[in-house]
Amino acid sequence: MKTSRLLTVLVGGVFCLAVMSLYRMLELMQGAELREHPDTPGGQVDNDLSRLQQKIDELERLLSDNNRLVATLRDYLLPHKASWGKGGGANVSSDSAHSQDGTLPGCRLANEMKDETDGVQLLDVYDLLPFDNPDGGAWKQGFEISYHGNEWDEQPLELFLVPHSHNDPGWLKTFDGYYQDQTRHILNNMLIKLSEDSRRKMIWAEISYFSKWWNDIDEQKREMVKRLVRAGQLELVTGGWVMADEANSHYFALLDQLIEGHQWIQRHIGVKPSSGWAVDPFGHSPSMAYLLKGAGLQDMVIQRVHYAVKKHFARQQTLEFQWRQSWDPSPRSDITCHMMPFYSYDVPHTCGPNPSICCQFDFHRLPGGRVYCPWRISPQPITEQNVQERALLLLDQYRQKSRLFRSPVLLVPLGDDFRFTDSSEWDAQFSNYQKLFDYFEQHPELHIKARFGTLSDYFSALRRRLSAAGSTLPTLRGDFFTYADRDDHYWSGYFTSRPFYKRLDRTMEATLRATEILFSLTLAEMRRFHGNGQLVAGFPAREHFQRLTAGRRNLALFQHHDAVTGTARDAVVVDYGTRLLHSILNLRQVLQSSAHWLLLLDKSQYHHDQSKPFLQMDDVISAQDALPQKTPLTLSDEPRSLIIFNPTEQLRTSVISVVVDSPDARVVDAQTGRPMAAQISAVWEEPTRASTESFQLDFVAELPPLSLAVYHVTKAAVGSAHRAQYTFYRQGNPPTVQSEYFQVSRPKGPEADAPLSLSNKHVQMWSSPETGLLQKLRLQSGLVRQLQVQFLWYGTTSNRDKSGAYLFLPGTEGGQLYKPSEPPLVRVSRGPVFSDITSCFRHFTHRVRLYHLDGHAGRSVEISNMVDIRSEVNRELAMKLVTDVANGNRFYSDLNSFQMQQRRTLEKLPLQANFYPMTSASFLQDSTSRVSLLTAQSQAVASLTPGELEVVLDRRLQQDDNRGLGQGVTDNKLTASLYHLLLEDRRGGAQEVGGASVEHLSLLAHLSSLSLCHPPITMVAPSNSQLPKLRPFLPLSSSMPCDVHLLNLRTLEDAQEAETPSQEVALLLHRKGFDCSSAPDTPLQCTWSAHEEVNVDDLFSPLRFRSVRQSGLTLLREDDEPESARQQQPPRITRLQPMEITAFRVEID
Ligand SMILES: [Zn+2]
Repeated sequence: MKTSRLLTVLVGGVFCLAVMSLYRMLELMQGAELREHPDTPGGQVDNDLSRLQQKIDELERLLSDNNRLVATLRDYLLPHKASWGKGGGANVSSDSAHSQDGTLPGCRLANEMKDETDGVQLLDVYDLLPFDNPDGGAWKQGFEISYHGNEWDEQPLELFLVPHSHNDPGWLKTFDGYYQDQTRHILNNMLIKLSEDSRRKMIWAEISYFSKWWNDIDEQKREMVKRLVRAGQLELVTGGWVMADEANSHYFALLDQLIEGHQWIQRHIGVKPSSGWAVDPFGHSPSMAYLLKGAGLQDMVIQRVHYAVKKHFARQQTLEFQWRQSWDPSPRSDITCHMMPFYSYDVPHTCGPNPSICCQFDFHRLPGGRVYCPWRISPQPITEQNVQERALLLLDQYRQKSRLFRSPVLLVPLGDDFRFTDSSEWDAQFSNYQKLFDYFEQHPELHIKARFGTLSDYFSALRRRLSAAGSTLPTLRGDFFTYADRDDHYWSGYFTSRPFYKRLDRTMEATLRATEILFSLTLAEMRRFHGNGQLVAGFPAREHFQRLTAGRRNLALFQHHDAVTGTARDAVVVDYGTRLLHSILNLRQVLQSSAHWLLLLDKSQYHHDQSKPFLQMDDVISAQDALPQKTPLTLSDEPRSLIIFNPTEQLRTSVISVVVDSPDARVVDAQTGRPMAAQISAVWEEPTRASTESFQLDFVAELPPLSLAVYHVTKAAVGSAHRAQYTFYRQGNPPTVQSEYFQVSRPKGPEADAPLSLSNKHVQMWSSPETGLLQKLRLQSGLVRQLQVQFLWYGTTSNRDKSGAYLFLPGTEGGQLYKPSEPPLVRVSRGPVFSDITSCFRHFTHRVRLYHLDGHAGRSVEISNMVDIRSEVNRELAMKLVTDVANGNRFYSDLNSFQMQQRRTLEKLPLQANFYPMTSASFLQDSTSRVSLLTAQSQAVASLTPGELEVVLDRRLQQDDNRGLGQGVTDNKLTASLYHLLLEDRRGGAQEVGGASVEHLSLLAHLSSLSLCHPPITMVAPSNSQLPKLRPFLPLSSSMPCDVHLLNLRTLEDAQEAETPSQEVALLLHRKGFDCSSAPDTPLQCTWSAHEEVNVDDLFSPLRFRSVRQSGLTLLREDDEPESARQQQPPRITRLQPMEITAFRVEID
């Protein structure tokens, strides 16, 4: 029954779309016949030909779309029988049709993942633990560890002491500041001290620093480095540009910084990292584990995990586990993970459970130095007299620690922040420990073999011991948020701290991705244009590639766990902000000049002039802490060309917004001359005063995937453009409004008290006339949900420890409803392109908008906030949605925008523990509906009460929270945040929900999120009648499937010539998992398939690939498929599995 109904809907939908497409084809053909040509006869032939070409392209695209639709329909109707292209060779999957149970083809059911008895599900652990925080004695957050002493008689304790130095790329000092003062000395000394004795070892994680140092040293020293690496004395661990934050970072940036680091290591050192090392990020995400595994790493170490979870894992001996992705039914994503058991990664908390003893074995704290042991027992230099006593004292700690693990191999880190700077520190640590090791060596009755080691040394010994004993590690699913290091000190503040820069981070990310893709396409087009593989003379490919590289590295640097987290000193924040801003501006140059060449009809007219770029962005960012401002365009009767780049892989209908100097304007498609639906709105200089010089022009653009479209704007006849109409409300005190060009009303009496309502074809919304804030939503299907928007203040506790950059420590009263001292001004705007309601409060301006569009853009409500809390003291502002969704204590938030994670709000935890990071999405659901909040920036999210979802918008905190930063966060800015709110029907959705259920966004939510995070980019050509002819650039003949995301198309560096683009491109595809129970009731603009096999040539048609070779996620050559598997000839079929990212090394023909 259910199946047949869904089928009817689907078939009907597909039929409708096919008919619509055919109708559009007819329309286009008619349009081509009827059009008149005002040009000169000479240009007319060219023009006709180009238009004809254009038409053919467009028809091809529509045909291709229709073919896909038919294919989807066929997928659905027929049992799965994949046979691609011209006969055979393709791997045919037999298990990929999900369609038998009446769900969407290709979707992912909400699985309850159960593993073998040894499997650990973190959500269950949270249900189980009392979080009572008893005093554990010497190991304060743990327990007394006992042993008999004969445990190691058969299997001696095998100890690896791993020297490390934790170098933050920016925190109290800037990246360059630390490098000059500390890091270069550490690395210089490393070279000397490791070379002195081959038993000495060291690990290094941050390639940002390592590469900077590499540039400073001579060839001889570089050879020494390579020798040390080859000899296994120096290991580069993780190999990322930074030790990335795992809460706020988007997976694009997490992977990009890993690629940047790994590519650097491959080029300069010629090795491949195999172990991960993340000792300082404030909580850990399985998305990072997935990326590391995909990049070829076998093992990883994590440290900052809730103390109660550590204790539980220590008791169960599950501190070492196979970390498995929540959504993965197979062990494919498993990576061996070691969780450090104690409080910190410093020496007092790594040798064993008792910090006052372990501190005595940090020989950097010998008496007379700058650092000491806070437990008041100092280390002693190891001498013949004390070696026995010292060795036995240390051995006792090692043995206790070893009891927490299943194997007799023991990992003991030796290091701290910026350690091993001075030569004397190296000597103190290495010589004293060597004496202890020698003593152990001379006393076999102690059954310990101790030495310096790297992570690889440790993990290979672990593997050896486990396989010898025939034992395996337990599997674990879940994530390690929200971190607490002691008491109720939960690190949920940094999910929001410095929100201005969290937003800037994502702007930078979108700019980088767009530039990467357009640059790669430009180089490919240029090579094809010349036919000989050469680039165009005068195109600064090398300079652009350097700009791209600098952009990649600055985005990478900002993923550091004190950067995007908002936990650096003010001056360091400015340094990061300046880097991001400069990178955005430089990347824009690359975008503009790539677009310039691609758009020229006559390529011989290309001419690059850095000082006078042909194209300009339509906005200006004037400072690192300023929001973008649109540049007003001067209009005349001469058409002004607007160039729009669609960075998404789908055809999309978008509203493009520019500011013009006339209230009358007209936009046409430059190719067809077709006028576009448009709307003129006021630019409000103050809430009630409209500019008389600037006007906002919004028009509907239909943008093919990855295309550059050209539109013409001209001044129009007075009164010919659709102008928005405004209604103003303010309780008690109707405002005076200055608005020369727009119709304004100010209702009085009962009219003023009626609920405000806006609607489009898909959604109707109601808002309060007093506040303008949303109250209710109704879908076309009839589904109605209460959906009230509220704002809250949080203060901080009156206890000694208060909220700061890391910690959220609110007062016992919790969030208090925001009550404005005077009623807000409410401004309703209505127009043909969009309608919205703006509420102007003292601390924020809040706007909800509906677009009058078909396609997914019309299905969601756009919310934007402009927040300014600079006048406040120790306050945090939150936005809350209060709904009637019966979600119980369950909700979902994303991890790094890569996957959704179930959350359980637990009363036994303090309020701040129930806040989680949200990179791009969160939702509440019950059996009939789902409310998703999709975001364009990372923030803290919680669902403290059933039906509610809240996000923290900004925080201003006057004091340090005692985690070393030494300051509060008071550098707040005028901060923007942007969301799509999506209400969806759920049909026959899973009953809620015993175990840990794995859920996904719907296809509609994926598309909505994609367009939110990757807005179209608008460029402006000069107003000049001598303008060369432009034609749109349409690299793809049709949209990619809705569930396939082009994560990146990233030009790789030339293997021979440094800082120069090669012909090889990293193609990164992510097939998203999507929800089965929210079938779209009208078809989306793209299709999807139950098949896991994808024909790469077909996806990118008409682009052609000379070669396609699958590789690891960081494109290391040794991860490439073997030469024999390299796909030289189409059809090139590859398997993209739901949830998986797949990387290819391709050459575009
Ligand atoms: Zn750190």
